[in-house]
Amino acid sequence: MRAQPTASHFIDGAYADDPAGAPFDSLYPATGETIARLQAASPATIEAAVAAAARGQAEWAAFTGAERGRVLRRAAELLRARNREISELETLDTGKALSETLVADAASGADCLEYFGALAADLKGEYIDLGGSFAYTRREPLGICVGIGAWNYPIQIACWKAAPALACGNAMIFKPSEVTPLSALKLAEILIEAGLPRGVFNVVQGDGAVGAALVGHTLVSKVSVTGSIATGVRVMQAASEGLKPVTLELGGKSPIIVFADADLDAAVSGAILGNFYSTGQICSNGTRVYVERSVRAEFVRRLVARTEKIRLGDPLDEATEMGPLVSRAQYDRVLAYLDLGKAEGASLATGGQAARPENFAEGLFVEPTVFTDVTDTMRIGREEIFGPVMCVFDFDGEDEVIARANDTEMGLAAGVFTRDIARGHRVVAKLKAGTCWINAYNLTPVEMPFGGMKRSGFGRENGRAAIEHYTQLKSVYVEMGTAEAPY
Ligand code: NDP
Repeated sequence: MRAQPTASHFIDGAYADDPAGAPFDSLYPATGETIARLQAASPATIEAAVAAAARGQAEWAAFTGAERGRVLRRAAELLRARNREISELETLDTGKALSETLVADAASGADCLEYFGALAADLKGEYIDLGGSFAYTRREPLGICVGIGAWNYPIQIACWKAAPALACGNAMIFKPSEVTPLSALKLAEILIEAGLPRGVFNVVQGDGAVGAALVGHTLVSKVSVTGSIATGVRVMQAASEGLKPVTLELGGKSPIIVFADADLDAAVSGAILGNFYSTGQICSNGTRVYVERSVRAEFVRRLVARTEKIRLGDPLDEATEMGPLVSRAQYDRVLAYLDLGKAEGASLATGGQAARPENFAEGLFVEPTVFTDVTDTMRIGREEIFGPVMCVFDFDGEDEVIARANDTEMGLAAGVFTRDIARGHRVVAKLKAGTCWINAYNLTPVEMPFGGMKRSGFGRENGRAAIEHYTQLKSVYVEMGTAEAPY
């Protein structure tokens, strides 16, 4: 057991335990070892977090934007300085390879703190000339925001929610996924060290019931959740009782379209990155890969050759490229989809079963898998699997592939590979997805808004767009003459 936090929750600037809460364990998915034992928040802890957030928010909102920004930028530096320690913790908690967490997780969280730290000094409204009198608008904080995280990018999700919320003068109560509870506590430590007033960022642990209690709390003004569509629906229903705005970052089954004129190696890179990074556990993954029929055989040949070289094994060994899945439940789910794909009649180009890397026989490893000859009605090609499973489809024409790519209830992301740049823009304009790439896949720089369409959710994280989701607009009319009345 290493790099454990010192208690379960972080409230009002300090670690807090809650013996009344139900205990639960955080497991290392590569071995099944328990790396930490925590307690879920009891109602008293939830109340303490809300009270601390209310006090903290009042103090924090009185800071100038520049002062708030300075704290966030200092936190970004501290996060970078502690990158290795936090990456190791993230690897233990999620099973993701250290070679990934070292560059992707806390690093992207730090970018986010830095970006919103810079924007904090530049929050502004507009001046509206009314010919003598005038009006202006103010962007004001919402108050106490609740952030609820999924297990695939624990510290990144915590930062993507906390950084814009705090930049705008809100307080946040963050509930990590029960499966990956640890790194958000490190973020809380770092924010305090960076000068954040107590109570402005709090972490409470627990399952969906704790999340639901936070969403329903009368003093909470906003909820942002990353998770499954089913959870998004439940959160939105609960939030609607209090007419609270929600940001929903939900699931996807996103298309990657490879035209015959594409740089095939680049397209293979995009498909690999968009299916196997983080052991395939990324919401925006391009798990439906449509390849124009004339290049399909060559594409699959190169894809399989590279996929079979991916090194699975000890997540803490920096030479390892792919770790296990995050939990037994996710492992069972992915293996069931592998069986389903075979039963549905898709062809297995590579992979297709559990993997047993040396010394990790008990680990939750699955071979990176490519199914070809997938048809539009097969469930493996329609449902989100959330594991290293790619489905390759053939297509013949542009209009046909656009219609097929859009034939899903989800719309988180999409990618197009072509050397014809006009076609790239034309196709992307017709794809019903919130985040799109041309000749790339799954790059999410913090400057670019990220989010979905259709049942993949709404609201945006990152970019200036996120500011709108963590502020409310106040309009102020200023009379320069005399107030008049008709009676
Ligand atoms: P879940 O939807 O199961 O859980 C997400 C979070 O919501 C967890 O913290 C969970 O708590 C909490 N939760 C569950 N029920 C409620 C409720 N009624 N009220 C409030 N909170 C609740 O998703 P997973 O964590 O299993 O993540 C996998 C899913 O998330 C995939 O479907 C994936 O597509 C999606 N996802 C989407 C992303 C995006 O940005 N669009 C990014 C990452 C994942 P707990 O689990 O502790 O019980």
